[in-house]
Amino acid sequence: MPFPTLQTLSIGERLRPPRVTGLADSSEAKPVPASADVAVVGAGLIGLSIAWRLARCGLAVAVFDRGTAGDGASFAATGMLAAAAELEPGGEDLLALCLESQRLWPTFRDDLEAASGIPIDYRDEGTLLVALGREEVERLRFRHDLQSRAGLSARWVSGPEARAIEPGLRPAVTAGIFCPEDHQVDPRCVIQALRQALLKSGGDLVENASAVIDQAGGRIAGVQVGDNFCRAPVVVVATGAWTATDDILPAGLTVPVRPLKGQALALRTDPRLPALTHVVWTEDVHLAPKADGRLIVGATVEERGFDAAVTAGGLYALLEGARRALPSIEEMEVEAVWTGFRPTSDDDAPIIGATPLDGLLIATGHHRNGVLLAPITAKAVEELVTRGEASGAAAGFALDRFPPGGSIQAENHGGFR
Ligand SMILES: Cc1cc2nc3c(=O)[nH]c(=O)nc-3n(C[C@H](O)[C@H](O)[C@H](O)COP(=O)(O)OP(=O)(O)OC[C@H]3O[C@@H](n4cnc5c(N)ncnc54)[C@H](O)[C@@H]3O)c2cc1C
Repeated sequence: MPFPTLQTLSIGERLRPPRVTGLADSSEAKPVPASADVAVVGAGLIGLSIAWRLARCGLAVAVFDRGTAGDGASFAATGMLAAAAELEPGGEDLLALCLESQRLWPTFRDDLEAASGIPIDYRDEGTLLVALGREEVERLRFRHDLQSRAGLSARWVSGPEARAIEPGLRPAVTAGIFCPEDHQVDPRCVIQALRQALLKSGGDLVENASAVIDQAGGRIAGVQVGDNFCRAPVVVVATGAWTATDDILPAGLTVPVRPLKGQALALRTDPRLPALTHVVWTEDVHLAPKADGRLIVGATVEERGFDAAVTAGGLYALLEGARRALPSIEEMEVEAVWTGFRPTSDDDAPIIGATPLDGLLIATGHHRNGVLLAPITAKAVEELVTRGEASGAAAGFALDRFPPGGSIQAENHGGFR
């Protein structure tokens, strides 16, 4: 199987899936299956990972997406598996979940590449966080103390050591933290691979199919797509940032998830002469080199609802943030720019588990970590479906940690990553 060839993208165009030749044809409209053991609503990284895992257990799984698989937040993601770099004060429970998923990733990759025949550009060089100037060093030191207290293997490096790891960085880089376990994948390839693996496992994927929950007698009955029904005793809602906004959920069920806008862009480099060989974070941006030569620069963090506009301010901030660390970006071609909507819950952690409606499960709110958390989420949902409860860290991330009817406490702030 050749490595997926990328489409040519222009400024302003949404990021589209890579073209992959030789796959099972999924372009024709699929009928809605009359029944399934499990119906999954939403075919992003989370819904597809869950569906593939359940299909591998021998269950009849049908996945519905109102658009094209992956075309939500998942294609917008950079693909960092950054448990250590993402650690925030008070984030110990989430860290446990992130680390558990990070440990699952190598097996997830092996199984997925074997099942689909599609390489997913898993790169295991680690992540380098850098400080530019004295004030940033102090903040980076705080971050490193936090990581050390959490038992992470993040290593403090001097400016010269950071530049030895990444020689293209400016001399203004005065210190860094090297996170040896924070790797990355290409989410677009992961989506294609999941899609293919699901179909090969006998799962159904129905696109352009807006689904709503169907219930009867106080429990789940399946999903409704237009005039069609798919009967299913278990339904998993994995609709990302749209979970609380569409009429997907039964009346009275509140899920505190909102869209958190992120703008990002891709620069073109020569893959034989990469500008970077590790993921690099500054306070302003992250820079992620991909095997095909793209250098992803991301991402803004904006409370703007579902406003998909790519703005001059967003692009300017991303490019300036990148240039502060890596001067060679000035010569690079801008290949694509895009916007995505992180599904963000009131406590920035995912919501995985049962709901008050019998048979209805939920897997959403993955915020900035949906790629990282896809394997653990899929495992947890498989356990919920087959055994009735999730094991390990995932058990603590159910919907019932929020007050019933919990409101969305969005602050109107801007920022990065
Ligand atoms: C710019 C940016 C960079 C990011 N970088 C990273 C990163 O480096 N690492 C990381 O781990 N995470 C990252 N993330 C976060 C990550 O992208 C998300 O957490 C993850 O993609 C969420 O996946 P999902 O499947 O829940 O949602 P989505 O991918 O949004 O999928 C939800 C799907 O549900 C469908 N849907 C909605 N309503 C219905 C309906 N009624 N019926 C049927 N289908 C419906 C939508 O069409 C959509 O396809 C980033 C996000 C952004 C925006």
